[in-house]
Amino acid sequence: MEEKGVTRRQFIKYAGATAALLGLSQALVPEIARALEEMAAGKPPVLWIQGQNCSGCSVSTLNSNYPDIAKVVLDDLSVHYQPTVMAAAGYQAFGVLEETAKELAGQYVLVVEGPIPTAEGGEFCTFGLEEGTKEVMGNKIPKDKPIQAWMEELVPGAAAVIALGNCAAFGGIPAANASVTGSTPVMDIVAKIDKSKPVINIGGCPSHPDWFLGTVLYYLVNKAVPELDEHKRPKMFFGQLIHENCERRASFDAGMFLEDWNDVNPDMKLCLFKMGCKGPVTYADCPTRRWNSKVNWCVGANAPCHGCAEPAFYKDLTPLYEPLPNVHLAGVTSPVETLGWVAAGATAVGIGGHYLYKQLGKKAPEGGDE
Ligand code: SF4
Ligand code: SF4
Repeated sequence: MEEKGVTRRQFIKYAGATAALLGLSQALVPEIARALEEMAAGKPPVLWIQGQNCSGCSVSTLNSNYPDIAKVVLDDLSVHYQPTVMAAAGYQAFGVLEETAKELAGQYVLVVEGPIPTAEGGEFCTFGLEEGTKEVMGNKIPKDKPIQAWMEELVPGAAAVIALGNCAAFGGIPAANASVTGSTPVMDIVAKIDKSKPVINIGGCPSHPDWFLGTVLYYLVNKAVPELDEHKRPKMFFGQLIHENCERRASFDAGMFLEDWNDVNPDMKLCLFKMGCKGPVTYADCPTRRWNSKVNWCVGANAPCHGCAEPAFYKDLTPLYEPLPNVHLAGVTSPVETLGWVAAGATAVGIGGHYLYKQLGKKAPEGGDE
């Protein structure tokens, strides 16, 4: 670190910011500093591949709230392969991927951005070549290597797999409605290769840089996967409903809703539920963590939460600007107009699970709100 011009004081500051990022006590700063030192010395290897993605999660990660920490993590992780930022290309780059998988088997973390297309032999997303030829318009040409084949090669040697962004974690936009490409969430592909392999899902479209960096740091500091929810998301980032922490929650409770984008919204305080906000069914820490170096977040910018951290996004949380349908609370069969008068605390939290049960065609638990 000294060779890179990082002073002891700066290093401890990074460790303090890391503790804040992970939501840990500042009392743990010495422990975090030790782990960061070990990490810098050990250079844990990372392979980062991209399926059906837009590279938005790569770009978002580079826009970290803590550029110093991002630099430390990204510099001191040995990122052997990352197609958006690496200088090498073509055979040179694919060679690194294959060699690392062989030489560092059991040690590397595999990051996957975008889901995996499985239709038609996976030919919708390929990079590099595999053995053999294929015929195109009567000509024999080298056979492209589908990302599905890369997964079969890279997953067995990975210490853990991180599915980065909603598309990789849950299928997202590529898997919505009639996906002709057979878009499949990373965890489903991994389960077919090795059921015991740890998978961490980081939702978001894009994912927040803290969600990725914090997860990697947690893994390195604790040598273990963070506590995950039922959708394999780290609870430290996806443990609370947006609706619980939203600065417009008082307006929701008071029945003060924005009803038309042309209406005046004094002090930007009116609740966006009727304009399609999915905050009541979305688990993420956006209202408290905020985006772009803590400048703002979706609702703060007067845009409804689209639920991009949820497994139900995109398919089951659209239309984006329509309110959640058929919400019933505490014995009240809503029109939406009644919501603000009855919603409070745990009752409103109940919207989320039951809405998703409804959307996914499952029966809500006995005795719950419909
Ligand atoms: S519905 Fe959306 S805007 Fe309204 S309080 Fe909940 S999260 Fe905030
Ligand atoms: S507020 Fe909602 S739509 Fe915006 S980033 Fe967070 S989860 Fe995604």
